[in-house]
Amino acid sequence: MPDIVTVVAHPLVRHKLSLMRDRSTSTSKFRQLMREISLLLGYEALRDLALEETEIDTPLERARVAILSGKKLCLVSILRAGGGILDGLLDLVPAARVGHIGIYRQPQTLEAVEYYLKLPEDLPERDAILVDPMLATGNSAVAAISRLKELRARAIKFVCLVAAPEGIAHVHRIFPDVPIITAAIDRCLDEHGYIRPGLGDAGDRLFGTK
Ligand code: URA
Repeated sequence: MPDIVTVVAHPLVRHKLSLMRDRSTSTSKFRQLMREISLLLGYEALRDLALEETEIDTPLERARVAILSGKKLCLVSILRAGGGILDGLLDLVPAARVGHIGIYRQPQTLEAVEYYLKLPEDLPERDAILVDPMLATGNSAVAAISRLKELRARAIKFVCLVAAPEGIAHVHRIFPDVPIITAAIDRCLDEHGYIRPGLGDAGDRLFGTK
């Protein structure tokens, strides 16, 4: 049984996340840090990738070595902030297929509203890694996971940078089998659905829209 919540507390992750939280960090630096942290989160999220043995010639001798057995992956980004994590994960697994789910938070109710969906047709043959930097109320994550389950993704993991305890509880109340990999679990949500202390609006900070 996989760990259901994994906090990647490596010093490099903690340091980079602290820089991202700082309001004086520039958009370009924020984007670069998001990509770098995503590599480290991906390292953890993909630790159960299957290997197979093959034979190669090193410069010195024939050797049996391990290579990825070609497990089929689909990285699914929740628009728009998921794109920051997606870039890092694609650096690790460039051959993965990519899906997008557009979801916005209804500002008054914080409910998730889906406005876009594009996924590979062979999703039932793929393990989905769903990415969104902020797991806040959990409404967007639950909506996206529901869609991936409905379309029969083979397995689903959720990767984020910062999670609120409320968001983790919400996701696991409905989908207790979906592992969550995060760089941090913060204190709480505020009345606007922002994570405290958090890092602000991840999309705005990633794209410089505020
Ligand atoms: N989305 C964000 O970008 N930040 C939060 O704190 C919560 C949701």
